[in-house]
Amino acid sequence: MFEKVIKQANIDHFRKWFERAEKIMIVSHVAPDGDAVGSSLGLYHFFYSQGKKVNIILPNAFPDFLRWMPGAKDILFYDRYKEFADELIEAADVICCLDFNTIKRIDTMADAVLASPARKIMVDHHPHPDDFCRITISHPEISSTSELVFRLICRLGYFEEITRQGAECIYTGMMTDTGSFTYNSNDPQIYYIISELLSKGIDKDEIYRKVYHTYSESRLRLMGYILCNKMEVFPECHAALITLTEEEQKRYNYIKGDSEGFVNIPLQIKGVIFTCFLREDTEKEMIKVSLRSVGTFPCNQLAAEYYNGGGHLNASGGEFYGTMEEATELFRKALIAYKPLLIAKK
Ligand code: 5GP
Ligand code: MN
Repeated sequence: MFEKVIKQANIDHFRKWFERAEKIMIVSHVAPDGDAVGSSLGLYHFFYSQGKKVNIILPNAFPDFLRWMPGAKDILFYDRYKEFADELIEAADVICCLDFNTIKRIDTMADAVLASPARKIMVDHHPHPDDFCRITISHPEISSTSELVFRLICRLGYFEEITRQGAECIYTGMMTDTGSFTYNSNDPQIYYIISELLSKGIDKDEIYRKVYHTYSESRLRLMGYILCNKMEVFPECHAALITLTEEEQKRYNYIKGDSEGFVNIPLQIKGVIFTCFLREDTEKEMIKVSLRSVGTFPCNQLAAEYYNGGGHLNASGGEFYGTMEEATELFRKALIAYKPLLIAKK
């Protein structure tokens, strides 16, 4: 068996809510990723198997490569069905807040969730959770919220009830939040859990292909273009920067999600431990900032200090309101400020 991570008091408390609840709402963060969708659907399948009325509402759509996930078609998007979603949020007995630690991460849904009389539980792995839920299950040492969902279901005593579909969703979240078990993935317990998920009949190799081998030709060409022309390496700082303008996105028929994972690529260069990806988002009139590091370099601290953001030690992000030139200039300033740390943490 695996070690207990979630506090017994939290399990006991949630068990009471769960037993009494009829209508359960699951919400996760804006621009949902594999872990947001995987943890939401993992919990959704479990609640459904227990006869609950359960809904998932996400602030906006998730990338196409997650669309195959069992139950994905039942997810509601707040930006499309706001009024209906508001009614469901208001009427819920329990709201499960998955994979986010601060209410602003659910964007325009925040007011409705805060105003709802529902009991709220957070299940998350981002550091420093805000205090907006009665039960807060927050474990930054765990590499995915999906793993926490698995642990929660098991600790409630329902391992047997996890279906293959639910297991597929949980596995997808664990896989995507660890770069297919290439970072934050040294905890032996992860592999114990994977073996338990395999016992449910999941095909992990097929899941990998469904998530990662679905690129469009234009995405692959865009990747070639940015690596050849738009990647700047700062060897003296062990860092790299990639920028992508709106015009370039148009040129390569960019669709949402096409730059997913680009930020990680420069980490393949020997000596590079910190990367930044800046993408112009004219719809939101801002520049989306993605940061990644390896080792102990705190890119969440840099995100908070320079780009009004946050996140994990090794994966964080933020937003910049201004031009690409200004965002790039700010990155150079941040590099100078953080150079001692970047050199020290080589
Ligand atoms: P990504 O680069 O994949 O968009 O985001 C990586 C991680 O950074 C997310 O899981 C999240 O924890 C954090 N993050 C991304 N964007 C923001 C943001 O605008 N604000 C905050 N606080 N965190 C962010
Ligand atoms: Mn996550």
